[in-house]
Amino acid sequence: MKALPPGDMPAGEFRDEGHRLVDWLVEYFQSSLDRPVLSRVRPGEIRAALPAAAPEAGEPFERILADFERVLVPGLTQWNHPGYFAYFPCGFSTPGALADFLSTAVSQQAMLWRTSPAATELEEVVLGWLRRAIGVPDGFEGVIYDTASTAVVHALATARHERAPEIRMRGLAGHGGGAFRVYCSEHAHSSVDKAVIVLGLGHDNLRRIPADAEYRMRPDLLAAAIDEDRRAGHAPLAVVATVGTTSVTSVDPVAPIADVCAREGIWLHVDAAYAGSAAILPECRWAIEGMERADSFVVNPHKWLFTPFDLSAFYCRKMDLLRAAFSLTPEYLKTSEAGDVRNLMDTGFQLGRRFRALKLWVVLRYFGLEGLRARLREHLRLARLFAGWVDADPGFERVAPVPFSVVCFRAVPRGVPRGVPREGGRGPGVGADGGAALNLFNERLLQALNDTGEMFLSHTSLGGRFVIRLAIGNIRTTETEVRRVWDRARALAETIPRA
Ligand code: PLP
Repeated sequence: MKALPPGDMPAGEFRDEGHRLVDWLVEYFQSSLDRPVLSRVRPGEIRAALPAAAPEAGEPFERILADFERVLVPGLTQWNHPGYFAYFPCGFSTPGALADFLSTAVSQQAMLWRTSPAATELEEVVLGWLRRAIGVPDGFEGVIYDTASTAVVHALATARHERAPEIRMRGLAGHGGGAFRVYCSEHAHSSVDKAVIVLGLGHDNLRRIPADAEYRMRPDLLAAAIDEDRRAGHAPLAVVATVGTTSVTSVDPVAPIADVCAREGIWLHVDAAYAGSAAILPECRWAIEGMERADSFVVNPHKWLFTPFDLSAFYCRKMDLLRAAFSLTPEYLKTSEAGDVRNLMDTGFQLGRRFRALKLWVVLRYFGLEGLRARLREHLRLARLFAGWVDADPGFERVAPVPFSVVCFRAVPRGVPRGVPREGGRGPGVGADGGAALNLFNERLLQALNDTGEMFLSHTSLGGRFVIRLAIGNIRTTETEVRRVWDRARALAETIPRA
């Protein structure tokens, strides 16, 4: 390659390569439909195909893209394939992808208002749009974080700062009160565990409250746990309620939990990472009832609002308290307009931040709320359709209600011991062999489904039962892919050994 003078890629080349990249992507979106959804590379295979050191001489972009296609594409698990049904969906849409490219290309770093007035102010505006769209009243200020995991750390840190501001200077070692206790349901996401660990609160001080038969936190047991902790000299600090739990998308009863928190004077954070988006549908508003009484909540447009990863919308009633917990301005970051503007570096531990608001703005504008509602409604319809097929087939059973777009099910073929109901009426599944044979059968069924290459589903465990999850949320998913899962599940269940 001819040596170029120092500086960036020449403008003409950028134009040509940019066009080539978009052309390549258009082709890829089509051709990738025929590639396995779950990557089939073996551990270490990608690494072995790449040189150990960076090249001394620059290489043409075209060659780099060719290597991307040859070496890396086989290692892409296709989150944006219509047959992707694992975990929770990863928000994707082509307008969102274009916006992310634009955001990177205009190279904004919004730590201070002056380092990006556009990113700073668009973030405020677009989070106001989202809050209104999901029907939460005024009184919350929003900030965009990368993930819900980051959001819960900030929520709990702010709760702690409200209770014991001296910890900021003296650390936990100087704190004389009882151990801070945090409460969440037995089905809450592991990000809550990590938050208490990272904040030095101690994993033992996270109490997981039992759920009812529909996997919802029991407010009576929450109140009892708080009471017990107070009597033991602990300091109840915060509750994390979940709207759309990871395994089954159950919805903790936020309003009665908010009553407990108000009575006890403890922080309420609502993790609506997945299901919060559904509240743009009037018929799903029930799910966030009571959330307006929370101290903070989080919704992830990067899960189920077609916004590419990463974008987590965190809202707090007491953002000034959060700023008090986190803001710190060294000389080199002082600005003359500090009193008149908000600097995003004050709303968290991170200094620099990407221009994430742009992709949410583009997604909300391109599809419009009506367009987004139509897509979510279709996902809800597909989930109900699948659930209906499961319910009607004696060879399968649904193991949880389907409030949104996730169906938890398993095969219960004749000839495989089904187990007896567990104590407490939490459904069948633990038999003389602990339900092991049925669990193994379903594990094999899941493996067989994923081995088809046409789909990717994941699993969870409920009351000792191995459960297959179908999580619908990809913008390209249609009834065809959902029906294919069902057809394959029924056919493959016939081929799996029953012993
Ligand atoms: N909360 C819930 C209910 C989740 O299901 C997840 C992830 O799936 C998270 C939080 C963590 O999400 P993130 O990847 O944004 O940290």
